[in-house]
Amino acid sequence: MEQNLVFTTMVDAAYIHIPFCRRRCYYCDFPVFVIGERLRGETSLGMQQYVATLTEEIANTLVSGQYLKTIFFGGGTPSLLSVDQLQQILAILDRRFGIDKEAEISMEMDPGTFDLPHISGYRHAGINRISLGVQAFQAELLQVCGRSHNLGDIFSAIEMIRQVGVPELSLDLISGLPHQTLEIWQDSLKQAVAITPTHVSIYDLTIEPGTAFGRYFQPGDRPLPTDEITVKMYRLAQHLLTGAGYEHYEISNYAQPRHQCHHNRVYWENRPYYGFGMGAASYMGGKRFTRPRKTQEYYQWVKDGCVINCEVTPVDEMLLDTLMLGLRLAEGVGMQMLIEKFGKQNVEKIFRILQPFVEKRWVQIVGGRLKLSDPEGFLFSNVVLSTLFKELGK
Ligand code: SF4
Repeated sequence: MEQNLVFTTMVDAAYIHIPFCRRRCYYCDFPVFVIGERLRGETSLGMQQYVATLTEEIANTLVSGQYLKTIFFGGGTPSLLSVDQLQQILAILDRRFGIDKEAEISMEMDPGTFDLPHISGYRHAGINRISLGVQAFQAELLQVCGRSHNLGDIFSAIEMIRQVGVPELSLDLISGLPHQTLEIWQDSLKQAVAITPTHVSIYDLTIEPGTAFGRYFQPGDRPLPTDEITVKMYRLAQHLLTGAGYEHYEISNYAQPRHQCHHNRVYWENRPYYGFGMGAASYMGGKRFTRPRKTQEYYQWVKDGCVINCEVTPVDEMLLDTLMLGLRLAEGVGMQMLIEKFGKQNVEKIFRILQPFVEKRWVQIVGGRLKLSDPEGFLFSNVVLSTLFKELGK
């Protein structure tokens, strides 16, 4: 079905995609444009054209009538934007939708891509949450991954973020990297905790075909850690971070009390959101809207007035989405909500499918909520979710 954007749902979250990076990390299969180590938003013609098109797209979008409560700049490397470009995007969002005074405005940033005037400009523009792509605290591992930052960049980035008073700081770490031992992983976790960020995100490396790692390594081959070690890495992270006072509130995310990421919760709770930029998806009223994934096609699409190819998500897929996303959260999904939205019969079917996992204690029903146990259920979430996918999809 093809139609213009018509919103029947109140939407208060927006994702903005900035697909530019200085170089390509060896494990990355995202569709990004590499602009080299020296260019950035104010000097890259490609970025200038992209921001102009992005702001045009936002200006063309119908509003749902709700102020934005969360905005998330993701990429790519959004911290390559100039302060002026960030201000332009926020200004058009504010004009079009209104930004709530208390809105969480997050940006993914990479160490080494900003200096003090730059981060100070971001802070004044409204950025109040930074997700810093640290990935590892060992110079050799950063090199092994093809990251463009070094250890010094990490510590000076944190110092600058603190200096300008950004209240929410999340550190991203990756486990399962080549040459990463359990001891090295423990060192990264301890260094992260010593920085006392408000939030920590942990990703387990996946070897994707088509990446440099995909060419060098087969999953399970040395120097990649074995499955046994990566499981130990997950347990160690859970043990160390919860021991340091972080709540393990989502499979891959830990937060100090009252510091969870509000924007990402919108996805996990399967709530509606706007998405802007090349390849970004928006989701509202059970409909998913995806923008073109290639630059010229995206530019042409905006020029043609942003007519969306929209797919209505069938009810059984909506049920799967709700489970797949909701079970990522420690609190799981509410049984009553499932019954009201999808009917008693469907929920009974889910119970039957999940029974073997309840017996294994990977799945629990506590206080009227269906949830995965921590860490066992989280560790085997792939098995639980793929079984649900297979059986519900029949
Ligand atoms: S910085 Fe992030 S998006 Fe860019 S290449 Fe590296 S992993 Fe991919």
